[in-house]
Amino acid sequence: MFLIAGVQPKTRRLDENPKRCPACGLAQAYTTRVDQYLSLFFIPLIRVKQGTPFLLCEGCQRPVDDFQAPVQETSTSRSLAVCVACKRTFDGSFKYCPHCGQRA
Ligand SMILES: [Zn+2]
Ligand SMILES: [Zn+2]
Repeated sequence: MFLIAGVQPKTRRLDENPKRCPACGLAQAYTTRVDQYLSLFFIPLIRVKQGTPFLLCEGCQRPVDDFQAPVQETSTSRSLAVCVACKRTFDGSFKYCPHCGQRA
């Protein structure tokens, strides 16, 4: 008999109040946490590591980790947009300003 054990990630949604995803504009970004569970037969038994909460958009399935635009960390691959309303910068791929919701 084989025991199938291992550590598996388990995604938990921490709130029921979605925020607007700046990438797709849908209010489907939930505070999410990915915990690591020790699993036996694919059933999570013991939480071995608690993850850090982050925003995950369920519309476009991407983590919304770009609310604070990077301070030009030599990342030339991404373009920055400047909000016309609040003048702050954000990821150029976003359709909405993550700071104030102004349409980009
Ligand atoms: Zn989205
Ligand atoms: Zn703004």
